[in-house]
Amino acid sequence: MTTAPNSSGPIVHIVGAGLAGLAAAVRLTQQGARVRLYEAAAQAGGRCRSYDEPNLGVRIDNGSHLMVSGNHAAMSYLRATHGPARQPALEKVEYRFWDGATGRRWQVRPNDGKLPWWALVPSRRVPGTKAADYLAGWKLMRADPLAPIGNVLACSGPAWDTFFRPVLLAALNTEPERSAAGLAGAIIRETLAQGGAAYQPLLASGGLSPVFVDPALDWLAANGATVAWRRRLRGLIRADQMVTGLDFGTEIIPIGPDDRVVLAVPAWVAADLLPGLTTPTEHRSILNVHFRLDRPADMPRMTGMINTVGEWAFAYDDHLSVTVSGADRLMESDREETARTIWGEIAALAGLPSDTPMPAWQVVKEKRATFAALPEQAKRRPNATAAGKNLALAGDWTATGLPSTIEGAIRSGFTAADAILTAR
Ligand SMILES: Cc1cc2nc3c(=O)[nH]c(=O)nc-3n(C[C@H](O)[C@H](O)[C@H](O)COP(=O)(O)OP(=O)(O)OC[C@H]3O[C@@H](n4cnc5c(N)ncnc54)[C@H](O)[C@@H]3O)c2cc1C
Repeated sequence: MTTAPNSSGPIVHIVGAGLAGLAAAVRLTQQGARVRLYEAAAQAGGRCRSYDEPNLGVRIDNGSHLMVSGNHAAMSYLRATHGPARQPALEKVEYRFWDGATGRRWQVRPNDGKLPWWALVPSRRVPGTKAADYLAGWKLMRADPLAPIGNVLACSGPAWDTFFRPVLLAALNTEPERSAAGLAGAIIRETLAQGGAAYQPLLASGGLSPVFVDPALDWLAANGATVAWRRRLRGLIRADQMVTGLDFGTEIIPIGPDDRVVLAVPAWVAADLLPGLTTPTEHRSILNVHFRLDRPADMPRMTGMINTVGEWAFAYDDHLSVTVSGADRLMESDREETARTIWGEIAALAGLPSDTPMPAWQVVKEKRATFAALPEQAKRRPNATAAGKNLALAGDWTATGLPSTIEGAIRSGFTAADAILTAR
């Protein structure tokens, strides 16, 4: 339910219109606050957005984004912004895998209920694995949250190599052996432990912006919130731990005593704006290769690739995108060489003749895609209220307990909004 916004009275200024800022704006607007968003770019969505790719001549996403049905904050955000009449276009996809070394294909088929009997059925789990291997998930939930996963699990064997490692690498975007067990455990607690109905993978196969960004902007505009584009915050003017002005370089926005500020910018921007704030300092890259290829017949929307450079292939209707997580080793690589290597893998996966010429392609290297999910970095995540009396922090890097994800970003926005509403 939305309370009508006040036409006068205090304003909540939100800096950054990524998912964290949008989620904060939605929650605050729902509660009747007057909201003004400021975004450095000419579009919203931050890391989770679509754009027109000139090399391919089609609209693509800034990296394929997967979420699961148990992401309750994301679901609540989508319900609010799409409204009851407009269902978010999220497509259910399957856990399908292909081993590039052997050509073997398989599907992991969890059952819907809370009791995970699927792990007892050989045809529903990874070939060559035992039901007991899947207890790894339970161990992660019970582990010391700051222990590296390598201290909790053996990190070897078929279940690790072909299921846990690829899935954890995708979710944490950090080498799983060194990552904090608590971040993996949090995901498992909220998804796997809730039963298959909570870890149904969902893909915005028609594009990220039409699902996560455009409806939110429409909803905010219809409910009185405003967005100022190309406004890069250069400095916070502060007195006595209170923000008194937002310095955008060409313009200073005064912050009244009853106004509030949400800073929903990336960690390194927040650290610059707030000297002394402890934030994660280490990040991990993601590399995406996009090919202009109509979806080959019989190609699943999503395939986990094993023993290949590419890790996850996403077949959209008019292009194909391949993701490599924790891709720091590829950041200096020659783009065309990387595209050719991965194209060879895709041709084999899609059953195309090996001499099929590489179609139009683009390699996108996102150097600081996520914070590194390492124990020492997890300890550096601040709470929403860590930075001052009338200022709340939001962003996937704040202390959500989750790795850098859509769910974490949206949850951080809701938490920042709630902190402001409570204080008022
Ligand atoms: C390639 C890639 C693939 C990913 N895949 C997945 C996935 O499969 N599943 C998943 O759940 N998550 C995935 N993620 C993570 C997900 O995209 C992020 O966790 C989420 O989008 C972060 O949202 P945010 O609002 O915290 O930050 P951002 O998206 O970074 O938003 C910050 C916003 O602040 C703006 N800004 C920055 N500085 C200023 C300033 N000084 N003044 C004003 N505005 C400013 C930026 O322009 C931006 O719009 C992926 C990320 C990448 C990069």
